[in-house]
Amino acid sequence: MDKKNANRSIECTVTQCANHSGKENYCALNKIKVGTHEKNPTVSQCTDCESFILGNSSCNSGSCSK
Ligand code: SF4
Repeated sequence: MDKKNANRSIECTVTQCANHSGKENYCALNKIKVGTHEKNPTVSQCTDCESFILGNSSCNSGSCSK
């Protein structure tokens, strides 16, 4: 995957993700999967990018709160 290919249909600011395009706030994937960790999601915080892969930077060793 060429991470320089920003997909302008998928805007994303999660620079910690290995799939992030880098310089610009876009994902580099052709498509992503969005899901939820809630039974009844009501706000955007209930949703997750399930295509997220941890990049070089840490995310407090997986201690991100959900
Ligand atoms: S996979 Fe998801 S979290 Fe990662 S850069 Fe793409 S949209 Fe963002």
